Amino acid sequence: MTVTMNRNGVPGKYGAGNHVLEVRDLRVHYATPLGDVIAVNGVSLDLYEGETLGLVGESGCGKSTLAMSILRLVQPPGRIVSGQVRILGTDLVKLKDAELRQVRWDQIALIPQGAMNSLNPVMRVKDQIAEAIETHQGKRSPAELKERILRLLSMVGLPGRIYNMYPHELSGGMKQRVCIAMSIALTPSVIIADEPTSALDVVVQRVVAQTLLDVKRTLGVSMILIGHDMGLMAQLVDRIAVMYAGNIVEIAPVKDIFAEPLHPYTKLLLASIPSVKERKPLVVTEGLTHDLRRPPPGCIFQLRCPFVMDICREVVPPLRELRPNHYAACHLY
Ligand code: SF4
Repeated sequence: MTVTMNRNGVPGKYGAGNHVLEVRDLRVHYATPLGDVIAVNGVSLDLYEGETLGLVGESGCGKSTLAMSILRLVQPPGRIVSGQVRILGTDLVKLKDAELRQVRWDQIALIPQGAMNSLNPVMRVKDQIAEAIETHQGKRSPAELKERILRLLSMVGLPGRIYNMYPHELSGGMKQRVCIAMSIALTPSVIIADEPTSALDVVVQRVVAQTLLDVKRTLGVSMILIGHDMGLMAQLVDRIAVMYAGNIVEIAPVKDIFAEPLHPYTKLLLASIPSVKERKPLVVTEGLTHDLRRPPPGCIFQLRCPFVMDICREVVPPLRELRPNHYAACHLY
């Protein structure tokens, strides 16, 4: 599957060519005794300067594997089989480990799933952020470090007293904002945030989401936001890419995805959002996902699609531009 977007849906902002991240035909497999599981199946996408791209799909669809493989952090038995990940022209897939370490944090940073639990419990916040800075930029004077760390904490809406505290003295939302501060410590061009608000209560989710938006606006950083909360996505992202079984099946500006979803899977995802205004029966996507080691010939969604046709069982639908900047992979159109 290959798709190249020349613009996203924000008029005048994302002209052709100003993308910061290009993923091309990326394939990631997990080796199992019974054969390779195809976790990412030839994904291509572009991320534009200052853009936030939402990556949505159900658990196990390959969202997090795609994020980890963009940073080349997939662990065995996973491996990148083929493809390219270019950030500002540099192909990360080809870099040696030492070169890669330099690019990570410096140009592209990850806020991993459950990031707040990855903070070192026996190190003060100031020391953890200082370590991230000095590992990449060498020894800094104490005064400079302190000034930078306090500025970072202020950017994510945390008071200066956090500087001297340990993670266990912070709430979940505060810890998550410390992780966001660490991710922007070296002012990267791209941040990938993997479910940054999961495991937080609804009110704190909003605070953390707003922090991400503020950081994006202040630094002009581009962001890939992974999640499954479509409501949160609607407020935070410019475009949405919908993933199913390792494939991107639809990608479009966020307003178009909500106004006129094209792929049957996207329609089902949206129909499954509970409403507080009306009582409606829970929409369940029938059927089972195929065996990820042996994708069926034809459409990847055929076993669960209410509209499946004969052609769907034989021909893979290409991801095509069906409306301006709105791409979907489906034979219905
Ligand atoms: Fe459904 Fe066919 Fe479209 Fe696949 S190509 S989503 S099976 S209608």
